[in-house]
Amino acid sequence: MKFGGHTYSYTDDQGRYRVVWEPHQVIQGMAYDTPILGYKVNTANLLRLWRAEAVESFDFQAFNTGDYYGAVNQKIASENITKVLYPNDEQLQGKELRLMQQYFFCSCALQDMIRLYKQLGNNDLSRFHEKFTVQLNDTHPAISVAELMRLLVDEHLMPWDQAWDITCKTFAYTNHTLLPEALEKWPLDLFGSLLPRHLQIIYEINQRFLDQVRLQYPGDNDRLRRLSIIDESGCRYVRMAHLAAVGSHAINGVAALHSELLKQTVLKDFYELTPEKFSNKTNGVTPRRWIVLSNPGLTRIITERIGEDWVKHLEQLRQLEPWAEDAEFTAQWRAVKYKNKERLAEYISNRVGVTVNPHSLFSILVKRIHEYKRQHLCVLNVITLYQMLKDNPQLDMVPQTFIFGGKAAPGYYMAKLIIKLINSVADVINRDPAVRDRLKVVFLPDYNVTLGQRVYPAADLSQQISTAGYEASGTGNMKFALNGALTIGTLDGANVEIREEVGAENFFLFGHTVEQLQELWRNGYRPWEFANGNPMLKRVLDLIGSGYFSHGDTELFRPLVEHLWQNDRYCLLADYQSYVDCHQHALQVYQDQAQWTKMSILNVARMGKFSSDRAIREYCQDIWHVEPVKVVLPETSYMTPPVQ
Ligand SMILES: *Cc1c(COP(=O)(O)O)cnc(C)c1O
Repeated sequence: MKFGGHTYSYTDDQGRYRVVWEPHQVIQGMAYDTPILGYKVNTANLLRLWRAEAVESFDFQAFNTGDYYGAVNQKIASENITKVLYPNDEQLQGKELRLMQQYFFCSCALQDMIRLYKQLGNNDLSRFHEKFTVQLNDTHPAISVAELMRLLVDEHLMPWDQAWDITCKTFAYTNHTLLPEALEKWPLDLFGSLLPRHLQIIYEINQRFLDQVRLQYPGDNDRLRRLSIIDESGCRYVRMAHLAAVGSHAINGVAALHSELLKQTVLKDFYELTPEKFSNKTNGVTPRRWIVLSNPGLTRIITERIGEDWVKHLEQLRQLEPWAEDAEFTAQWRAVKYKNKERLAEYISNRVGVTVNPHSLFSILVKRIHEYKRQHLCVLNVITLYQMLKDNPQLDMVPQTFIFGGKAAPGYYMAKLIIKLINSVADVINRDPAVRDRLKVVFLPDYNVTLGQRVYPAADLSQQISTAGYEASGTGNMKFALNGALTIGTLDGANVEIREEVGAENFFLFGHTVEQLQELWRNGYRPWEFANGNPMLKRVLDLIGSGYFSHGDTELFRPLVEHLWQNDRYCLLADYQSYVDCHQHALQVYQDQAQWTKMSILNVARMGKFSSDRAIREYCQDIWHVEPVKVVLPETSYMTPPVQ
């Protein structure tokens, strides 16, 4: 893999225009393979990951002149490229090392594909797209579009038009966010100094693309400016989403609502230009991990009733519907949930040192910390419940445990302040004798997939409370519902489709819709009016501001509270009352255990659509045009894997 340096051009002896890239640095990619086994079949897929290595690991010349640091410098610098996974989520990090990493992985993968293609005996790359398809999972690998063009044109001497045709047929692009601050763009000077040849190729792609647009929309310079791969407003940037959209034959969002909003917002101009490229592919989760492995108890009682085929054909969970009111089955269902809650309670006791009661309602909000996901809206509700108990110590309220978890991006100040708020509120509430064991709050540190496998099966209530229009899909919502949690949620991402599937009567809906929020902002959203007009909301905000949860420090949470009063970009105050009311309704339903259990069983029975098998099948049929391979089924059958 080459980096930096410069390019020069010449005309070769056959009269062809050629460009040579003379890099400043060359780095070697080492492949690491992991077989991904099919479930109870005789197939395995290959997961090939890459690590950066120095071409020369030790500079003897530097060493011999006494420059000991210089002797290993190059090796260290090379290996740094693949040392870290960038921990940012929904906000970009425009660092040089990140672009190097993105390019490194893309170039490794594409060079490997071409090597494999040739190894199969095909020397002529004109049918490359018939053997390989590349799905751009967000814009992080979008540089691949320019890299494949470079490999085909510069290194394999293919004419530009043919190379472009193959490139567009090879790539497809999945968008994962509508948040403008998450859309990747690279400053031109940084980009050009690291990838000088790719910048030239992108200019050429852009010029040809804009020439075509000009034919379709003569004189519409505004549209050209909006569509351009180069952002020329102020500082100049390469817009990676535009490169991905131009270089792909298919573009999709990850839930029905998200795919619609894509066409109306960030990719509107691309949709008007090439509507046929656009489709939706609603996300899914794998039932093998997210129920069979993580919830053996539930897996066992389901399989006892309907056999084990549902693990591979999740729609078959529908056969559970007739059992939703069966006395024995519902008792087993509740017993499994209770065991899972006990197991999580034990983990919480060991890891956090807080005792929680598995008989209480477990309300869980686990996901990356982000203002649009509104963990702090859940905190406002927790403090509201706390105030109700303080006002009326005899209040007959369902005992509840609120469990939070999630990582914040290192540089995201507000996200870290939200974690601080959750922990601070937990400290006060968990110690207050007035609450007695009716309200507990826990923040799980270091939330990750392994911990998720313990958490999702233990939830009664799944908190999916993002501002409508901001969560592209969500998959946590699917993992919870598949494990028998009921959802309290907004009409956002895949919540919309989950509610459609499980039935509106089995879903706790609250909050403004996308259209209602657009209307709110059109009329000038004034969050302070919501606060001043709602005594409990004002009291909760004032309590946070007063230092009640921060040992009297009135400064600590000021940035958070002031943002809500003055700006409230994610409309917490507008949705507050609807959320509190909906939560109260959920508590009421929970008191009728037969009703709650029936709703829980119906949720699981109707979650078949959200299998990743269905999602991947749709990509295979609609975008990749690939057929399933033949598999051999084993003769023996196994019930469930051993309990972890
Ligand atoms: C599923 C999962 C997510 C995604 O959760 P959302 O609620 O959809 O944001 C994030 N982190 C971990 C560890 C997960 O398992």
